[in-house]
Amino acid sequence: MALVAHDHMKHDLAEWVKENCEKLSQHKIVCTGTTGKIVEETLRSNRQNNSEEEVILDITRLKSGPLGGDQQLGALIAEGKISALIFFWDPMAAQPHDVDVKALLRIATLYNVPTAINRSTAEFLISSPMFDDPNYTPAVKDYTDYIQRALE
Ligand code: PGA
Repeated sequence: MALVAHDHMKHDLAEWVKENCEKLSQHKIVCTGTTGKIVEETLRSNRQNNSEEEVILDITRLKSGPLGGDQQLGALIAEGKISALIFFWDPMAAQPHDVDVKALLRIATLYNVPTAINRSTAEFLISSPMFDDPNYTPAVKDYTDYIQRALE
């Protein structure tokens, strides 16, 4: 599954990951670069301040979003490699890579990837029984007619 957050939302996302570490540890996680860094730092400092048993997350960091990370993620979605997207985007700040953000949300919608855009939808998503169901595959519309359309 994929995790992305805009700058002002990164700590919120990292806190959410910390709280849901146990469940997330069952999944391979892919993050855009800086989001992944903040998530890893938050989890590391939590481990240091806590004597509880460690939960290690399998995190792969892509490029930073504005440097192509959102597009890398979009490519993974198109290849069917992402089962859920948690994207805390910032409704109060213009982004230099707005077109990439739009493209990521578009491709996630096109492939019917379960997508959470804030904490409440992330909570709904992770608490769904389907979240842990390895047999759940989102239905993707059949685009054969589109692919085979006649062009003038
Ligand atoms: P970042 O990218 O995690 O590298 O900051 C997030 C984004 O796409 O804005």
